[in-house]
Amino acid sequence: MPAITNKQQLLTQAHAVLKKRFPLPALEPETPRPLLEELLFAICREGSTTADAEAAYTRLHKVFVDWNEVRVSTVQEVADALKPLPNSGPRAGWIIGVLHAVFEMNYSYDLGDMEKKGLKQAAKQVSRYFNEKDLKSIGLKQAAKQIARFKQVNDFAVAWVVQRNLGGHAIPLDGPTFRVLRRLNVIEETDADDMESVRGGIEHVIPKTRGPEFTELMSIHAKELCTDKTPLCAQCPLKNDCPTGIENLKKPEKEKPDSKPKKSR
Ligand code: SF4
Repeated sequence: MPAITNKQQLLTQAHAVLKKRFPLPALEPETPRPLLEELLFAICREGSTTADAEAAYTRLHKVFVDWNEVRVSTVQEVADALKPLPNSGPRAGWIIGVLHAVFEMNYSYDLGDMEKKGLKQAAKQVSRYFNEKDLKSIGLKQAAKQIARFKQVNDFAVAWVVQRNLGGHAIPLDGPTFRVLRRLNVIEETDADDMESVRGGIEHVIPKTRGPEFTELMSIHAKELCTDKTPLCAQCPLKNDCPTGIENLKKPEKEKPDSKPKKSR
């Protein structure tokens, strides 16, 4: 296969190749989650996969009677329910924080009220939770901006909710996805400083209808092959087009990131 030099082509090619390598189940949940639940799920999903996040989310539902019990529990208790999801402590803190913010806003756990009350009104109600940095960095639809103003919610969670709940076009980018895209040379190390521009570039290439699939494939690939310290380039279907993979596979065996020290007998 000839080397692909164009970043857009490489992204499209990666999507197609990974789709063959990692066949996906149907992505749509049978019953769409309410907005708040999608937001809380997004906190579990960032830096993980949907399967692992679903498992953690299900454990939350089993351990706690309702969202109010989660809200009044300790970070440690919620973190224990989320384990073995990585970073369970910070995630637990964010989940509790969002629940406190939503509860203080309208004394219920229904973010759908935000839209019924009108976005301007909702903005006023949540004004003390605004996070201007998040707001400015995300150029998504107005409803997403409202959600972004919860200081516990970052741009991944906002983009996730837009993609999975609000019907907009957004590609959530978390650490593992960034890692894959950086190794493929689709984005630069410094691009993380300009999320809106990076996201816009990816969304330009990946159409809305394929956004959820792309998001899933990137996460699974990051977990299965393009792992943090030891990318399994020799097994990767992108190895002929990925600049990092090409470099890694040129290295002598002992210098390869996925090489393991040989045991002496
Ligand atoms: S070739 Fe290696 S670095 Fe490139 S995407 Fe595959 S696993 Fe990641």
